[in-house]
Amino acid sequence: MKIEIDTHSHTLVSGHAYNTIREMAQMASEKGLKGLAITEHAPKMPGSVGLYYFQNLRVVPREMYGVRLLLGTELNIMDREGTIDLPESVVEELDISIASIHPPCYVGERTKEVITETFLNVMKKECVDIIGHPDDGRFPVDYERLVRTAKETGTLLEVNNGSLNPGGFRQNTKENAKKMLEYCKEYETMVVLGTDAHVDVSIGDYRYVMEVLEETHFPEELIANTSLEKLCSCLKRSRKA
Ligand SMILES: [Zn+2]
Ligand SMILES: [Zn+2]
Repeated sequence: MKIEIDTHSHTLVSGHAYNTIREMAQMASEKGLKGLAITEHAPKMPGSVGLYYFQNLRVVPREMYGVRLLLGTELNIMDREGTIDLPESVVEELDISIASIHPPCYVGERTKEVITETFLNVMKKECVDIIGHPDDGRFPVDYERLVRTAKETGTLLEVNNGSLNPGGFRQNTKENAKKMLEYCKEYETMVVLGTDAHVDVSIGDYRYVMEVLEETHFPEELIANTSLEKLCSCLKRSRKA
């Protein structure tokens, strides 16, 4: 199985990542990818860029080194209502969007009921294509409800290589990702594989994701980013175009 496009990465401007757009594109090309999504942290992440950065992304070429670039954002989910930290009108103009819970930004309760409701509220938003790393045991989720609502709303659920790295800081990620994937098989819900690269060498490195896919015998047809065309047709925003 070939993953043609990495759907989750960060550059220097996210504040805790280490390469430029050009360096990331060049590495994606060297690794044989056809596409790379660059999804900078939205403004509430300490050290990341502000609103104008996202509003001005139209000036950046969408192809470098033969790699198609999807320029977007990783939104911060702020509270139980599913508030995000960029205006929906701005997110709609981007190429792709992920919404994730991050400890410095999310202020709601961390019970399974509240976190699940939080994700459900976010998935209702038309401008949110992907739920990022819903595998973090610090934010417990009812995976059956998550997966069913993802299917209903056409939101993609991410399997995040950074989370699954044994040296990572999220908790029980492998067990949680496997639980989510079992429900995705049952309900035929699409997933997307993201490396969450914060440095160029991590682009396209899916070693931990592949382990989990093999262990769950996960079907390739439910993976959105095996080709650029398939991915683009699976993004919510493509349906409006
Ligand atoms: Zn994240
Ligand atoms: Zn990220």
